[in-house]
Amino acid sequence: MFDLIIRNANLPDGRQGFDIGLKDGIIATVEKRIDAVADEEIDATGRLASPPFCDPHFHMDATLSLGMPRMNVSGTLLEGIALWGELRPLLTKEALVERALRYCDLAVSQGLLFIRSHVDTSDPRLVTAEALIEVRERVAPYITLQLVAFPQDGYYRAPEGEASLKRALDMGLDIVGGIPHFERTMDDGRRSLEALCRIAAERGLPVDIHCDETDDPMSRHIETLAAETVRHGLQGRVAGSHLTSMHSMDNYYVSKLIPLMAEAEINVIPNPLINIMLQGRHDTYPKRRGMTRVRELMAAGLNVSFGQDCTMDPWYSMGSADMLEVGHMAIHVAQMGGIEDKKKIFDALTVNSARTMGLEGYGLEVGCKADLIVLQAADVIEALRLKPTRLAVVKGGKVISRSAPRIGELFLDGRPVSIDPGRDYVPKEPS
Ligand SMILES: [Zn+2]
Repeated sequence: MFDLIIRNANLPDGRQGFDIGLKDGIIATVEKRIDAVADEEIDATGRLASPPFCDPHFHMDATLSLGMPRMNVSGTLLEGIALWGELRPLLTKEALVERALRYCDLAVSQGLLFIRSHVDTSDPRLVTAEALIEVRERVAPYITLQLVAFPQDGYYRAPEGEASLKRALDMGLDIVGGIPHFERTMDDGRRSLEALCRIAAERGLPVDIHCDETDDPMSRHIETLAAETVRHGLQGRVAGSHLTSMHSMDNYYVSKLIPLMAEAEINVIPNPLINIMLQGRHDTYPKRRGMTRVRELMAAGLNVSFGQDCTMDPWYSMGSADMLEVGHMAIHVAQMGGIEDKKKIFDALTVNSARTMGLEGYGLEVGCKADLIVLQAADVIEALRLKPTRLAVVKGGKVISRSAPRIGELFLDGRPVSIDPGRDYVPKEPS
């Protein structure tokens, strides 16, 4: 007897037509045909079942604030930061909680159940931290929300940057953040990383740094971050978010840098949508792409996971809580269009992110937590191509969201009467 059985599902590793039995909050069995009954059954009809998506880099304090108090006219990162600075004094806890909860509703419907959000600690009122801690509690039954203490205006550059960040950690934020390239000088950036890694080591916390989010090839804070990670024994618990300067670095220097990052087991978090939108802004033509070196970092054995970063906020007017949109952009910007490439990109939205976030019991193996999604697509490659409807979202063995499949009706003489984009166009031999 199971609580829920998903019938006839395809699995991310390519196995087809499996039943998944969920009981007492865990995946109890995955087999060809479960001869048992359940309180509830979902017929996946040969569609993909996957663990839920994870977003390891987001800003939930800013999301859905588009147009408040005005729009970003230049569309640049620096105007975005300035605009957020205008909005910040106007923020109230109630409004922050309301926007974050609305975003989480959307995330659930998109099968996105694990989110790491940076929380700006620059304003000493720390209304952002207060609000997001409340949101973390309220969404805990359906979304795992990790909170990074993020000194947006600089750990040293903001008047009370140091004290505010520490107080935010005292309040219960989970992870130490930083922004070394935004400090006044390269040397302040280096010192900030030394201080932040020390704080993390003393408090037993992970680290997640907005690192080198610039086109300046001399922005080399990732080198310091890797060295401080090793110095404090934080291997595997430190993330370098963005790392866009690596795009523009000298190849010889990168050939030394990537092994240092591998030694430190840095988790790499590119944000393809934001990187392609915000980087290269000072270029005329040719214009750089500004995403870090995904293929090379993966080849060196580094754990790469993609973040969404922003949805409808001062930095990015688009976004829809859809991690497949992020993966779709990653394929294009990294030029990773091969079959094996795409499988790696899907992993970067799921299992790699789970590793970055230190999630336990994540996956579709027996014994994992009973969290999964069913998509209107046959396999992971089709999922990336189509960004399909999430037909069912399951958390702890319970269905928490359902969406009807997208079926187009046609009224054309001699042509099919309906189109299911997730079934009728699956390539016989994927290429
Ligand atoms: Zn960010």
